[in-house]
Amino acid sequence: MEQPILYMIIPCYNEQDVLPETAKQLGACYTDLIRRSRISPASRIVFVNDGSKDKTWEIICRLHRQDPALFSGISLAHNAGHQNALLAGLMTVKERCDITISMDADLQDDVNAIEKMVLEYQKGSEIVYGVRSERKKDSFFKKATAEGFYKLMQNMGTEVVYNHADFRLMSQRALRELAEFREVNLFLRGLVPLLGFQTSCVYYERQERFAGTSKYPLGKMLSFAMEGITSFSVKPLKIIIILGFLMVAVSIAMLIWAIVSKLFSTTVPGWSSTVCSIWLIGGMQLLCLGVIGEYVGKIYAEVKQRPRYIIAEFLDQSEGSAS
Ligand code: UDP
Ligand code: MG
Repeated sequence: MEQPILYMIIPCYNEQDVLPETAKQLGACYTDLIRRSRISPASRIVFVNDGSKDKTWEIICRLHRQDPALFSGISLAHNAGHQNALLAGLMTVKERCDITISMDADLQDDVNAIEKMVLEYQKGSEIVYGVRSERKKDSFFKKATAEGFYKLMQNMGTEVVYNHADFRLMSQRALRELAEFREVNLFLRGLVPLLGFQTSCVYYERQERFAGTSKYPLGKMLSFAMEGITSFSVKPLKIIIILGFLMVAVSIAMLIWAIVSKLFSTTVPGWSSTVCSIWLIGGMQLLCLGVIGEYVGKIYAEVKQRPRYIIAEFLDQSEGSAS
């Protein structure tokens, strides 16, 4: 089988402490894979500098000078965030390679899984997910919040691969389809499963961050989860409708109770009407809000202009189209 050209995409934000080691390990891995004819010698490791404030870009430039046939760099104009940096890298290289693998800069993902991913690709998968088999090395807090994140996403109706972050192989074909998704609010973990195609998983054990600190503190992780939910599902809007119905039902019960109390016991004048209107109006408002929300949800889906289908195969018998 022909050796694929593999481009690794590594987004880096203030990663000067880990970058030299990451480059060393990945470089060694590449040299080995090329020597064993697993990947083409035209393969590259591409670091995407996401507007770092430290010496990250200097290090990337130095790596490129030392070994231009192995290391490449892309520098973004400003800090665009992890997901955007990743997409920028993928879209920039997609016409130069057969496959890409995206990986974090901090060596938490297993370098040895790269070869397994390439093998899965050669067996026919267009997308290969790197999935953490366990989280022994993560702190209790990180583990709980991260796993809570995946559960929340699933409950809210976003299809994500459990315990898969952004360590994944994508073929050129999958990347071309991904390029058709033009949304601004980017959540790649939710988008990639929408592509379909033949996929598979490679399991690996997640390591501790090699050096430096996490660029995803709790606040960023929460807003990332919000992004994932609100970009993929209108379930929160539906919850409002259900709440509205419940409130109206409760208000009807209250109405009956208020009338009964008025008839059979002495109530403060004005109590019944006040109580009833509060509940009824509250319920009706929520209900109406929910209905409006339903339409807002539709508009929101339209505005995205996501591709409505992806062609997996094209059987064409016209001349000159054999490939
Ligand atoms: N990152 C980035 N831009 C940002 C934040 C993070 O490119 O604004 C990169 C970072 O350099 C790393 C990856 O995204 O390669 C994942 O970040 P990190 O390892 O800090 O996240 P964690 O593993 O703690 O969730
Ligand atoms: Mg990390």
